[in-house]
Amino acid sequence: MRPVTVPFFISHQGCPHTCVFCDQRTISGASGVLPAAEQIHKKIDLWRSTARGRSLEVAFFGGTFTALPEEIQSGLLAPLQPFLADGTVGSVRISTRPDCIDSGRVAWLSERGVRTIELGVQSMDDTVLAASGRGHCSTDSLAAIRCVKEHGLKVGAQLMPGLPGDTPLSSLSSLERVVSAGADFIRIYPTIVLQGTVLARLYETGQFIPLSLDRGVALCKILLQRAMQAGIPVIRIGLQADLGLNTESVLAGCWHPALGQLVRSQLYDDLISHAVLAGRRVTVHCHPARLSDVIGVNRTNLQGQLERGVQMLVIPDVTLQQEELKVLTEESCITYSIISDINYSIHEV
Ligand code: SF4
Repeated sequence: MRPVTVPFFISHQGCPHTCVFCDQRTISGASGVLPAAEQIHKKIDLWRSTARGRSLEVAFFGGTFTALPEEIQSGLLAPLQPFLADGTVGSVRISTRPDCIDSGRVAWLSERGVRTIELGVQSMDDTVLAASGRGHCSTDSLAAIRCVKEHGLKVGAQLMPGLPGDTPLSSLSSLERVVSAGADFIRIYPTIVLQGTVLARLYETGQFIPLSLDRGVALCKILLQRAMQAGIPVIRIGLQADLGLNTESVLAGCWHPALGQLVRSQLYDDLISHAVLAGRRVTVHCHPARLSDVIGVNRTNLQGQLERGVQMLVIPDVTLQQEELKVLTEESCITYSIISDINYSIHEV
């Protein structure tokens, strides 16, 4: 059973940089105040009472955890120790920059219950990193991924397609490089332009053209398919409004409250278009967890297929894998997979 995540946002705390896209106060919706021990205790007690016996994972999101002074990191991790000792909290997750990790820090964190480190890799293209004001390069990211793995912790890579200077090919190459470096999971946050950032100035003066929603979805579906082909989970696509993103501050870029679903829906729709000739009546079986993706956000896939003359009945089927569709027509019954039965060209994005 997956643990329940207890999130704490530590905002811009600890970060000495100003990436062109970043306004951590906007993303976290917080002013940068760190949670006190008592608040941490209270929140864990509250979440424990609703977790129905599932173990908890405490996650410190935002900011740059390992760049905080050590006494502050200790102050955040110390209140968790009794909960780790009695099993209420099974693990701790932090996020940080690739150039703020080394072997000593990972060992120190591991001794205090940290089991997962998410790295803000964003891109593996040094030109893109420089244009985005990241202040680190791709070799820092490779070294950080290896370092975390060597200590037996899980490592996640956050990627941001659509940064200044980025191309679809370079986004795909970034994903492939973090996968081959050993990332255990990936988050994909297509670049959005937030009010008050350097990127907003570049956008308003025409020096930066963000990914549109359509183009972002077209790119993300290829990235997702490539990660699936490599067997690496993509645990999130797009920033989460309900975790504090102030959507009113989004000026432009590839953002949608259900971006991940849009992307997955597009994959299934492409597969159905590939498998079913126009004008047919078809029954499509899918894993129950993927029913809404196959139907599409606001039934768009059903509607789109109808427009090409395909009358589609979708039925949940527990015998299928989540990536599979069984397509029944009058003549055939064939099981397809979004992993292997659609061929995309990154050059078409
Ligand atoms: S490193 Fe992270 S917190 Fe710091 S400015 Fe960049 S995105 Fe924001």
